[in-house]
Amino acid sequence: MKNAVLNFPNAGESRLYGYGGKLIDFTIEKQLLDEEKWALFVEQFRIKLDSENQGWRGEYWGKMMRGASLTYRATKNEKLYSVLVGTIRDLLSTQEKSGRISTYTVATELKGGWDMWARKYVMLGMFYFLDICKSKALAKKIVNAMKRHADYIIKRIGNGKKQIGVFDTSWFVGGMNSYSILEPFVKLYVLTGEQRYFDFATFLVNEGLCHEFNLIEACLNKTMYPYQFPQTKAYEMTSCMEGLLEYYKVTGNPDHLRAVENFVDLVVESDYTIIGCCGCYHELFDNSSKTQTEPAANEVMQETCVTVTFLKLCAKLLSLTGNAKYAGYIEKSGLNALYGAVNNENQQMTRTGARRFAPNEEGIWVAYPVTLLEPFPFDSYSPLFHDRRGVRVGGCQVMQEGKTYGCCVCIGSAGTAIMGLFAVMKGGDGVYVNLYNDCRFKTDSFGDKISVDVYANPYQSKGAKINVNGKGQTFALALRIPDWAENFKVTVNGEAAKGEEKNGYLIINRAWGKDKVAVSFNAPVKMTVLNKKIAFTQGPITLARDCRFEDITKPVAITARNGKNVRAKRIKNSVFHSNVAYEITTKDGKITLCDYAQAGKNFDDEQCNITVWQEKK
Ligand SMILES: [Zn+2]
Repeated sequence: MKNAVLNFPNAGESRLYGYGGKLIDFTIEKQLLDEEKWALFVEQFRIKLDSENQGWRGEYWGKMMRGASLTYRATKNEKLYSVLVGTIRDLLSTQEKSGRISTYTVATELKGGWDMWARKYVMLGMFYFLDICKSKALAKKIVNAMKRHADYIIKRIGNGKKQIGVFDTSWFVGGMNSYSILEPFVKLYVLTGEQRYFDFATFLVNEGLCHEFNLIEACLNKTMYPYQFPQTKAYEMTSCMEGLLEYYKVTGNPDHLRAVENFVDLVVESDYTIIGCCGCYHELFDNSSKTQTEPAANEVMQETCVTVTFLKLCAKLLSLTGNAKYAGYIEKSGLNALYGAVNNENQQMTRTGARRFAPNEEGIWVAYPVTLLEPFPFDSYSPLFHDRRGVRVGGCQVMQEGKTYGCCVCIGSAGTAIMGLFAVMKGGDGVYVNLYNDCRFKTDSFGDKISVDVYANPYQSKGAKINVNGKGQTFALALRIPDWAENFKVTVNGEAAKGEEKNGYLIINRAWGKDKVAVSFNAPVKMTVLNKKIAFTQGPITLARDCRFEDITKPVAITARNGKNVRAKRIKNSVFHSNVAYEITTKDGKITLCDYAQAGKNFDDEQCNITVWQEKK
């Protein structure tokens, strides 16, 4: 069994503040405490509407439960906890005598659609809740329910004579949606030690996690990029990789870890955009490292589910390997793509009304006339080139009384919570600071209760002040050295810190009392050129133009110093709220930019275009 090198803090051990902290609170207030919504999602398991259009309403409950449980871990919000206890009891009451918990009828189950995928999410929702569950009796009930639910699947799916093959349970994306059930099966084996769950996981792995090619071998061989694979659906493929990583933890087979690490390397090389999402053609890998400068087809690009799933996979790799490069990816994807997708300016999403597409009874995608228009806390797609936010709801399904919801809306809170949980993590030897952002951390994992308080704003990338109270104990304080940081320096009580550089961290090992640590670095505004278009970044922050500032359509004439640095002045944004704003000097005068996360958040307005890439004059 391979154990984690770094762990998320337990509930109550850490709290993220600043912008990221506010976004966590936003998800609690606008989504996770909404008992009507939880009841609506559980009801899908009773009325089985998914049978009618081979739908995925069954993913909503478990997906949001995963985010909600992580959010509890990041906040210890007891009101949230009691809502979650209520909904998990409600869900358990939908289990049939046979053990099934499904949004499909028996007559329509396990063929062609998203039934396995939804059952995966039932299990994952339960697992993430188990991590925070305070009642032994309730935990026991959940585990029993999960075993019966899993046994029903094992009995029917496989290579046996009367069994259904995995691909026959889904006609979509090479069956990767169904194969991704690997993750909860490995977790169930770890939890119960019962061999049949491991055997089922092995069966899935031996099939290569896709019907049309062996996904594991393709990642091991590294002869193709994911956008060149026979199947290219980004979200489902990344989900399969999460399962393979769990499987590696049990087997310790280095090939399984290598396949997942290779997958991330291949994605970062060929399909990782300037805001840290993947896939600019629909929801597919498409070599977006290069295609990202082009207009989106049908307003669909860079799905929020992809952002969050990639971020989650990187969080698992960070935990397992302790390699800070994964923290860098989480930082980039989180501060830009994810935070940009939060509807924190409370837009009503009136424009998405006519664009809530969902499959009808014949499986044909149609625009639903939405009778009940409600705003969602997360947006589904992230534009990069002269476009607006909030135009489509991804993975939309219509439920009772015209109510709708979307896949990306359900996944977002897992992302915002992970940003809080990865900021400061616990290693065997001490405390690891991954994100320079306001965060209070305390733990008694190393003996007496110690605290590490970080004061920093990542959107200003100026460094950090860290107050350590170590009660005289010896432990490591590991400070991530971001690859974008210039002149990275650390002092302890005003003197240059003595430490060892390892895995992308500066590790300072000493007896800690009440000490003041100062981290300093520079992060000038830089220009990136791609396909005769330019974009600007500052440290981990991607900058965008917003039509509220000025006309953003004209090509920009600019030359960078040293090929990269540009003349930029930080200004106060008096037009709308943003985390940071800059005036950049061009040959035709000044242009204004702000952080991508807050650009174009006024998407109910007639005009709200933004652009990250601009034509170079
Ligand atoms: Zn989605």
